[in-house]
Amino acid sequence: MDIANPSDEHLMLREMIRDFVIEQVEPQALKHDRDEKFNLDLLRSMGEMGLLGLTASEEFGGAGLDAIACVIIHEELAASDPGFALAYLAHSMLFVNNLEQNGNHEQRSRILPNMCSGEWIGAMAMSEPDVGTDVLGLSTTAKKLDNGSWVINGRKMWITNGCIDDKGTPADVVWVYAKTGVNEKNKAEISTFLVEKGMDGYTVGQKIVDKTGMRASNTAELVFEDCIVPGENLVGEVGDSLIHMMKNLELERLTLAAMSLGIARRSLDEMNRYATERGAFGRSIRDFGQIQRYIGESWAKYRAMRSYIYDTASNMGLNNSGHRLDSDGVKLFATTAAKEIADAAIQVMGGYGYVAEYVVERLWRDSKLLEIGGGTIESHQKNITRDLAKNPDVLND
Ligand SMILES: Cc1cc2nc3c(=O)[nH]c(=O)nc-3n(C[C@H](O)[C@H](O)[C@H](O)COP(=O)(O)OP(=O)(O)OC[C@H]3O[C@@H](n4cnc5c(N)ncnc54)[C@H](O)[C@@H]3O)c2cc1C
Repeated sequence: MDIANPSDEHLMLREMIRDFVIEQVEPQALKHDRDEKFNLDLLRSMGEMGLLGLTASEEFGGAGLDAIACVIIHEELAASDPGFALAYLAHSMLFVNNLEQNGNHEQRSRILPNMCSGEWIGAMAMSEPDVGTDVLGLSTTAKKLDNGSWVINGRKMWITNGCIDDKGTPADVVWVYAKTGVNEKNKAEISTFLVEKGMDGYTVGQKIVDKTGMRASNTAELVFEDCIVPGENLVGEVGDSLIHMMKNLELERLTLAAMSLGIARRSLDEMNRYATERGAFGRSIRDFGQIQRYIGESWAKYRAMRSYIYDTASNMGLNNSGHRLDSDGVKLFATTAAKEIADAAIQVMGGYGYVAEYVVERLWRDSKLLEIGGGTIESHQKNITRDLAKNPDVLND
């Protein structure tokens, strides 16, 4: 069995995306990284291909596909342009999949068709200037008004697709987590709101520039100042956000790991070709044992991450949680492995590896974000250790 293409449908999806990447993504990747520009038109064009609502229901314009399909698309996009892949992930996984799994029929039927076509661009806002990992400590508040609307106040930081251009145009719709009170255990009660462009008090604070990597995606600070959100834009019930986070973080971590896989594969491809073409001391450099170590170890890591990621994807349902151990595990292993493989590629390619034209320096810069975004590697270590204490039997499955 082909673990990465278990059905004809998966194989066709991969071939379609590979063609798209060769024709449309690769030619623009270097320039958009260099210029720190998000290619909005290219993302919108994926709507015509039916890829922006990969996991959304067909009745709302989606493709109704599974977690393996999500891995395939992120792996293929990131093998060329991880920054663009991150913008795709924020739209289709962090917003679209979240709404598909957790929204009510009115919210889904009104918003998802616009998201699947690419007319609207979406984002997810959890992190804040003072809070990332410690998500229950967030300080953005939402208070209910007598007329049933909500008023949101606070700032969100590091939001991918938070702005969609350099003029400060905000995302068309943002999935926002805000504190609505405290629960009976005196812990923060967090609720989810759909904030739409044009709602009073929703603006872009700043586009964050000079990032190390992922420069082809836009990252923004969002400001909510007495932002009025109608009652029907509350997702689920008050206090439901932990359920939303648990479900969607698993897919987010899996697809960030899939991006690492794309980075690893491309880095290996580049170093392998270069090692044959480059000569030194009258031989091809691939004849040197130290170069063989870079290539051999990278191959073994790449194959291990590929197996673990596709195995986790094949077990992951989209509408339930319960895969945290492995969604943390794949992201913990694959993100660092991708960074190490991109680093090995630069080393094998010497001075050429250090300049943009040879691609791997960009992959190396982009790979670093994957150890931070969607949960830091330290948070994965913490979660895995806690889950193994609760459920040690998993070691003997
Ligand atoms: C380019 C980019 C795009 C992003 N996109 C989004 C987005 O679309 N939406 C969104 O909501 N967020 C987004 N983020 C934010 C990202 O998810 C956070 O940066 C991440 O969760 C870490 O939070 P922090 O930066 O506040 O670091 P902190 O949580 O402050 O962590 C700082 C350090 O302390 C460590 N630490 C914290 N707590 C513990 C602990 N209990 N045990 C051990 N170590 C600990 C961390 O691992 C880290 O090393 C993005 C970030 C970047 C850089």
